[in-house]
Amino acid sequence: MSRKPFIAGNWKMHNTVEESVNLIEGLKAAKNKNNADIMVAPSFTSINAVVKASVGTGFKVAAQDCFYEDKGAFTSQISPVQVKGAGATHVILGHSERRSLFGDTDEILNKKVAAALKHGLVVVFCVGETLEQRESGKTEEVIKGQLVNGLKGFTAEQLKDMVVAYEPVWAIGTGKTATPEQAQETHKAIRAVLAEMFGKDFADAVRILYGGSVKADNVDAIMAKEDVDGVLVGGQALIAEKFVRIIDYN
Ligand code: PEP
Repeated sequence: MSRKPFIAGNWKMHNTVEESVNLIEGLKAAKNKNNADIMVAPSFTSINAVVKASVGTGFKVAAQDCFYEDKGAFTSQISPVQVKGAGATHVILGHSERRSLFGDTDEILNKKVAAALKHGLVVVFCVGETLEQRESGKTEEVIKGQLVNGLKGFTAEQLKDMVVAYEPVWAIGTGKTATPEQAQETHKAIRAVLAEMFGKDFADAVRILYGGSVKADNVDAIMAKEDVDGVLVGGQALIAEKFVRIIDYN
C-alpha cells in the first residue's frame, strides 16, 4: 500500500519569532522530490508568524501540545481553539517529553485527542518505550497500552487523518538511533495494534513516523523500510540545510 510520506520537524523550545521565520525561509530550498507532507511544529509564540511565512509552501504547521479545555481559568495552557486561531492545522500529542516531564498520562492524552479532534486539528500521536522497557522485552506491551488507552473511545472515521509517531525514548536527542530493522519491527507491531482497534483498512492507510536522532545520513535507510512512512525530527529540524536534506531523502 502506498502512503504519502510525512516529514515533520519538532522545534521544541527553540527559536524566537524572528529565528522561526528565518528557518522557514531556509526550508524553502527543499524540492520536496518525494511529494511528502511537510510539517513544522514551532513554539506557540511563533505559530502565527510561521503560518504567515509558510504561505505558498504547502508546509503544515503544528502546535507541540494543546490543553483539553476550550477556554477558562487554566493559566499558561493553550487550547485547541487558540491553536487553530493562530493558524495551525496539526498538533503533536503525547511526545515523550510531555509524558515524562509534564505529567501527560494516557488518560490526559485521551482528553487532549478528543479536544483536538473536536476542533478539527490533525493529531500526530506519539508513542515509545524507554530503554529499560526495551531491554526487559516490554516494547510492544508498552506501546499497545499507549495506543489502547490514549485512543480509546474514538472511531476509525474520527481518527482517519491521524498520524502516529514511534519515538523510542532512548533514541530522542541521544544520538542513538533505532536501526531501520528495529523501526520496521515496531512499526509493524503498531500497525497490528491499530488493525485490532480500528480495522485493517485503517491500519493499512495510517501513516507511522519514526523519530529519534534522525539525521541526513540515516534518513534514507530508515525511509526505505516498508512500514516507515515518515520521520519526526528534533535537533536536525532546527538546521535548514539538514532538514532540507531530510525532506529530500533518497
Ligand atoms: C523529537 O523530539 O521528537 C526527536 C525525535 O528529537 P531528536 O531528533 O533530536 O532525537
